[in-house]
Amino acid sequence: MTEKSAHQSATVPSDHIMGVYSRTPLAFERGEGARLYATDGDVYLDCMAGIAVNALGHANPKLVQVLKDQAEKLWHVSNIFTIPGQEALAKALTDATFADVVFFGNSGSEAIECAIKTARKYHWKNGQPERLDIIGFEGSFHGRTLGAINASGNPSYLEGFGPPLPNFIHLGFGDFEAIKATVGPTTAAIILEPVQGEGGARAWPDAMLKQIRDLCDETGTLLIYDEIQCGLSRSGRLFAYEWIDGAQPDIMAIAKALGGGFPVGACLATAEAAKGMVVGSHGSTYGGNPLAMAVGQAAFEELVKPELQTHVREVAGYFTQQLSGLVQRFPDVVEDIRGRGLLIGIKLKTPNREFMQHARDEHLLIAGGGDNCVRLLPPLNLTIKEASEAMAKLERACETARARAKAAA
Ligand SMILES: *Cc1c(COP(=O)(O)O)cnc(C)c1O
Repeated sequence: MTEKSAHQSATVPSDHIMGVYSRTPLAFERGEGARLYATDGDVYLDCMAGIAVNALGHANPKLVQVLKDQAEKLWHVSNIFTIPGQEALAKALTDATFADVVFFGNSGSEAIECAIKTARKYHWKNGQPERLDIIGFEGSFHGRTLGAINASGNPSYLEGFGPPLPNFIHLGFGDFEAIKATVGPTTAAIILEPVQGEGGARAWPDAMLKQIRDLCDETGTLLIYDEIQCGLSRSGRLFAYEWIDGAQPDIMAIAKALGGGFPVGACLATAEAAKGMVVGSHGSTYGGNPLAMAVGQAAFEELVKPELQTHVREVAGYFTQQLSGLVQRFPDVVEDIRGRGLLIGIKLKTPNREFMQHARDEHLLIAGGGDNCVRLLPPLNLTIKEASEAMAKLERACETARARAKAAA
């Protein structure tokens, strides 16, 4: 075996794809709702939904129809022109949120880049160009662009990419005293996920988000929420910040579920926070093109429905109750359940990567997460019946994990 192939055998061999992913040798050819059909004919229950992307399930008939119809009309023009679909989706998003204006991109990272640029430009516009500091938190994930990895609270993402960018500060998760001590005359913004996703489904305490909002008001600091994962009804409300009175942001990044699987991201802001973003400040070639906007509008029409949010709370309630039983029956495997709505973290005592494999052996797909968690991120329209099927599979995965741990001891 050559050195090259020996290295690649740790993951799925691929000669021509940059080796940045640890891939499972499993490929799918079709999806329907919460089911994924593998190329080998096996059927899987999907409780990760492309990491919170396929929120309305695979091959959602409404989205498929809208995509087909739009594909026959117009895909792309350019942001030089007026794009009616952008205006319609921006109106729907601003009607439903704190925001007045929206910038459309194609991913979460791009939404984050826009959020950071918007915050700094605001202070520049106010005659305070020294307000550059972006305060983020340990365990956070904001994406993989150079700006986003500097905002993220995981030093491993920065390794080998040169010195960290100046003016990015990281504090402990949930440490309000540290925030109070750090916010000052050079602070531009605080950036946080109301419920951390990749970090392991950790929700900020409600009362603390209100304290942070108040501190931002007192100090003229902008508050940026990253609701790329926890937003769009996954928490059981349209946005996770709605669970807390008076804790809305000035700027918010969203993506993932927004296109239901089609790449769409957006940065939402108040008119005040966005006042520095004028002609020439920012842009994106593909961002908000007619095809993306058609699918985005159709997806958002579903995601915004109160019935969907009620359903999410019901299914989440079922999971929470069942999972607490799992903690009791498998105290040697499961340590804790956390998260909000259908962003559920299961903190394990056995290795999470192995547990994901045990779940896959049961034909259940779940996501990994920081802090030795696995995450359940099912389509939001998962039925209680499917949820109970997922629980039975998780129970068997716990049995396997227990047996493995005993054999190793
Ligand atoms: C996925 C994610 C991102 C990055 O989104 P991309 O579309 O991969 O660029 C940023 N923040 C959070 C919270 C995410 O979950």
